Amino acid sequence: SRYYTIHEHPQGLPSKDLFALETRELAPLEDGEIRVRNAWLSVDPYMRGRMDGVTTYIEPFTLGEPLEGAAVGEVIESRDGRFKQGDKVRHMAGWRDVAQLPADQAEPLPEFDVPEQAYLGVLGMPGTTAWVGLNVIANMQKGDNVLVSAAGGAVGSLAVQLAKANGGTVVGIAGDPKKLEWLESQGVTAVSYRGKSAAELSAALKDACPEGFDVYYENVGGDCLEAALNNLRVGARIAVCGMIARYNDDAPAAGPGNLAMILIRRARMQGFIVFDHWEHHTDFINEFGPRVASGEIDYQETVHEGLESLPDAFLGLFSGSNQGKMLVKL
Ligand code: NDP
Repeated sequence: SRYYTIHEHPQGLPSKDLFALETRELAPLEDGEIRVRNAWLSVDPYMRGRMDGVTTYIEPFTLGEPLEGAAVGEVIESRDGRFKQGDKVRHMAGWRDVAQLPADQAEPLPEFDVPEQAYLGVLGMPGTTAWVGLNVIANMQKGDNVLVSAAGGAVGSLAVQLAKANGGTVVGIAGDPKKLEWLESQGVTAVSYRGKSAAELSAALKDACPEGFDVYYENVGGDCLEAALNNLRVGARIAVCGMIARYNDDAPAAGPGNLAMILIRRARMQGFIVFDHWEHHTDFINEFGPRVASGEIDYQETVHEGLESLPDAFLGLFSGSNQGKMLVKL
């Protein structure tokens, strides 16, 4: 098996040299195990936190051991009754070409008429996150005005479509011009954060939605949060899904200076981790599988080819080089 590992904890934005591509001979399969040829690997922002060597809501990666992440692939050998050769599965032994794992850590792919990699994006963890954040955490109501940051990414691009389908003005913050264009094509007012101070971004949000927002779907933190706080309506709900602007910081950054807006607007801000709400995943894919298959949901992918491209794909998340879900195809 060829896999990636890291031998030290990165400081700041990792460089490509952090990622070592190594080879390991796999042991013969034991009872209850399967061997999977991975076809698609997911790279996700949360993986940066796992490189730091501290336990957060999830264990850190172990230096020298294969990195982990979501993957889909095909069973090539099985010593478990649940899977046979040729079955398509999703599991967490990514960052490698061939994975060997206990069968109970793999799940069969559902059979909607969608490409298999959709189960890593719009019908996988990111899609479920968008749904949970909007509906369970932010309690979005019909007609609410909704602001989404990192709105052209995997989570954000579904969050804006769900919000749009449910009502009021939807505004998306993004950097990459192609994302801004795509947002406009969805009827979402697109606001660029690039080159703007928090005050300028705040003014741009006010132009985009003078009434203010009932819901802020937070993926970025930093200036986006500060600008959003200035544009809340009374009773607003903020679902804190991610704060990617901070993931490469070596020291804690100061919070926005205007947190008092939470008080002034009687707003509620709640962080969440999608795996605490995974009981919604099955309902989510049963509802959205057909909607993705029919083309009603416009999901996008940025695909890097080959195991060698994994570090670039991962690092591209921090420069915004992905449109929709960032994936590696093997
Ligand atoms: P994305 O596909 O959105 O990729 C990340 C995007 O973030 C980039 O494309 C870039 O787009 C934007 N970005 C990167 N750095 C910055 C920055 N400094 N300032 C502003 N924007 C930036 O990733 P995901 O959809 O997978 O994840 C989105 C967020 O959701 C992340 O914060 C992630 O950690 C979080 N998340 C949380 C989960 C949970 O359970 N709570 C589960 C899954 C994801 P641009 O071109 O706009 O700059």
